[in-house]
Amino acid sequence: MSQPTILYLDNNASTPLATPVLEAMLECARCQHANPASPHRFGRKARQVVERAREEILVDLGGQTTGINPDRIIFTSGATEANNLALHGLGEAGPIILSPGEHPSVERVARSMAQNGIVVHWLEVDRQGIISIQQLENLLQQGASLVSVIWAQHETGVLQPIQRIAELCQKYGVPLHTDATQIINKIPIDLKKIPVSALTFSGHKFHGPKGIGGLFVRGNTQMKPLLLGGFQQSGVRPGTESPVLAEGLWTAWKWSHSQMSDNGQALRKMRDFLEHQIALAFPNVVFHGDQTERAPQTSCFSVAGVDRQALLMALDQSGVACSTGAACESGAVQRSPILEAMKCETSLLDAAIRLSVGYLNTNQEMELAANRITLCINNLQKTISSPTTTAPARREGLKVVD
Ligand code: PMP
Repeated sequence: MSQPTILYLDNNASTPLATPVLEAMLECARCQHANPASPHRFGRKARQVVERAREEILVDLGGQTTGINPDRIIFTSGATEANNLALHGLGEAGPIILSPGEHPSVERVARSMAQNGIVVHWLEVDRQGIISIQQLENLLQQGASLVSVIWAQHETGVLQPIQRIAELCQKYGVPLHTDATQIINKIPIDLKKIPVSALTFSGHKFHGPKGIGGLFVRGNTQMKPLLLGGFQQSGVRPGTESPVLAEGLWTAWKWSHSQMSDNGQALRKMRDFLEHQIALAFPNVVFHGDQTERAPQTSCFSVAGVDRQALLMALDQSGVACSTGAACESGAVQRSPILEAMKCETSLLDAAIRLSVGYLNTNQEMELAANRITLCINNLQKTISSPTTTAPARREGLKVVD
């Protein structure tokens, strides 16, 4: 039996490398073998590669590159490390104020800081997943060392009103960190207009390499290092920088930026098509957070009664790769913390599936994916409504109609 075409709809977990990124990295790997901290000509060349990536990303984000305290980009191994750095580097005096939708690389850090005596306040969200601005203001009035609010939630895609949150934090003189991993290079972002103090991103979420990400840090923000070592990156993140990864990151940044045209329209069109087809087939479907603004690549939906793990496996068999939540949490049978915070009913919690499209997906793939998703849900619903047919249905497998 021929294998079905693989439809990769798990771009929030990771994206495939774009071809120009691979080519740029190979070229760089061929010529840049030196340590960017070495003073000789080879080292200086390697440093140029790293610094160009740093500078161009900073400019692109709307960072201030001149003056006494220019804004900075600190390269890290990815978003997990950038989030750890932001929380420890800015929040250790406490209290810290957080949203309930944070990625484990923020949430678990905060819980461990709480065990060490730092006061942590968790914000409430409404049924669409938007934080309570009133509660935030009340807490800011009592004083805090850091607010951390994820910009685009990785499971639902729900966008927090970051501009408003940043202005509120600025009013009370409290730094705001935002994990922008799922929104960078999906919609235009100009940090000239949004007074965040620190912002996290990761290369492999926008068709760049795994193993590099970064933290944008506003010039006047004092950042305590997480690691101790050499003087690289002003000692805030010591360790030899990788020209190849920096080159890949920057190339992916430019490339995905060029795909982003019209405010994420290409991704939104594919996501909306999928949702439309699913809603036509299953009128009782719930798309979590769809009454508010979402990242254009993300859809999280539930068809009540259709178990998410069973659907995930059925989709995998039919050649559709997606997820039941954050990749860092999958494997766990734990229910989605953000859907719980949104007061989602149990029958929907147990059915939640995430689809996330990327710049390498096509409209044609969306048609195939919608067919396969519909077929898989239909088959699972049949096995639920007539349990005696379960075994034969499983034996036959889920036939794919492309
Ligand atoms: N934050 C968010 C919102 C994410 O989606 C992810 C990846 N699942 C991370 C942080 C961690 O990213 P990385 O793999 O680069 O450490």
